[in-house]
Amino acid sequence: MPVSQVAVEFGRSAPLAAAAYKDADRLSGKVLVDGVLGPPLTNETFVVENPANMAVVANAPRCREADVERAVKSAHDAYPAWAAIPARERGRMVARMADLIEAECEAIAALLSLETGNALATQARPEMAGAIDMLRLFAGLGGELKGRTVPSGPGILHYTTRDPLGVVAGIIPWNAPVYLMAAKMGPALVAGNTMVLKTAEQAPLTVLRCAEIARHVLPPGVFNVISGYGEEAGRPLAEHPLVRKVTFTGSWTVGREIAGYVAAKLCPVTLELGGKNPNIIMADADLERAIPGVVQGMRFTRQGQSCTAGSRVFVHRAVYDRVVDGVVERLEALRLGDPLDEATEVGAMISEEQFDRCTYYVEMARDTPGARFLCGGGRPDDPDLRKGLFFSPTLIDGIPNDSPVCQEEIFGPVACVLPWTDFDDMMAAANDIAFGLAATLWTRDLSRAMDFAENIQAGFVQVNQYDTPQPNVAYGGLKRSGLGKEYSYESMIDHFTTSKTIIINRGTPG
Ligand code: ADP
Repeated sequence: MPVSQVAVEFGRSAPLAAAAYKDADRLSGKVLVDGVLGPPLTNETFVVENPANMAVVANAPRCREADVERAVKSAHDAYPAWAAIPARERGRMVARMADLIEAECEAIAALLSLETGNALATQARPEMAGAIDMLRLFAGLGGELKGRTVPSGPGILHYTTRDPLGVVAGIIPWNAPVYLMAAKMGPALVAGNTMVLKTAEQAPLTVLRCAEIARHVLPPGVFNVISGYGEEAGRPLAEHPLVRKVTFTGSWTVGREIAGYVAAKLCPVTLELGGKNPNIIMADADLERAIPGVVQGMRFTRQGQSCTAGSRVFVHRAVYDRVVDGVVERLEALRLGDPLDEATEVGAMISEEQFDRCTYYVEMARDTPGARFLCGGGRPDDPDLRKGLFFSPTLIDGIPNDSPVCQEEIFGPVACVLPWTDFDDMMAAANDIAFGLAATLWTRDLSRAMDFAENIQAGFVQVNQYDTPQPNVAYGGLKRSGLGKEYSYESMIDHFTTSKTIIINRGTPG
């Protein structure tokens, strides 16, 4: 959209939008390789749209093998010198990067809002704060890259070291791009690796902006950012022989493919994949907290576009009506609108593809005998929202647990409520799913809380809260939800370093 049209389109958020469009225009058509923000080798591009009004925000390079090759070579060339820098010094550079990003945080958050459709107040700004916090966590952990000594006997020095792996490939989705950038590049770089990050085709700009800032602190080649489609750029990146580690966040279907590519060259991989997560309310729960916990847990203010979303809400029959009424009241009060408006709580879905996917499952629910739409179910009535990909927060019940609506990841603002009476039956239903990412239980009964924690099949388990995974919370799933953990000290040690065993035998003294 020409910047002159922005005022008409955006009303009171116009100045913010105009600045973000300008920033997007400046980044348009560029990648960051070898410390230079510039044109790629490819001359093909794809369009990045603002999902709130379908305006063109920028054109992003459609990188293929040649650009992958150039970025990996740059990361490979930068690796020996970067790995030789003392770890705490690398950490200080990442901390400095976090400071520089923080200094421009408001403008970057507006750009993030523009390309993702996420509301500035409830999503984009908190995401920036979370990403900065994540970078600072890892920046401070450089001194913790310690090995061990092993008591092997007199005259023998037996120890292990934690060493970097080399070039790491990061492949990220669009739903929390800056947070995921930080979760991957923070530990990778502090541990002494260099990186090539491929952004998601729907949201390549904000990560590129952060990389542009990082360029002021990091040596050229240490952190490279390219854009492109999965098969054309992501695949050759994952398969590249010089890439010694792949960290991926995205769908389970693509995660499985990536695991296949890297298996062929025996390279470690971390996969953070989908979820269809139970949010369980017991009869004795504090409903003052559990009811807002359903809204927060489902990430309705991110249009439900989160793998952690609590999309299967199991509610005890004794409190069923109160919970459902309370959740519906809150969902109907949520303000959908211009993502850059401070008053907006819910923005637009990322793409038509995602919108159609959501519609597909909602139609399937409509065709399910006994299904009840408790609220939402499609586009909101407000004519101002017709231009964008807005979808009303939707709550459905009467759907059997084995329906695809309850079993498959919709990745939109649609939650199913399932009533229950027997704890063991409910737990069996909660576990009767191919995913195992997150789970929450609301109760005052410590014994039940422990039963739940011990038996639920999920990698991220909470009681009496449904928070987003924070920095320093080891996060990752079981079953189809992935392999390995991220966001924590363990993730840096286990997934971004390798260990070496060294035995020095002094021999006979003298
Ligand atoms: P989503 O459904 O959230 O868009 P995807 O799993 O499709 O998630 O995409 C997540 C990331 O994986 C994106 O950066 C995308 O370009 C990339 N990707 C998609 N397909 C492949 C593939 N075959 N190989 C490597 N990367 C891929």
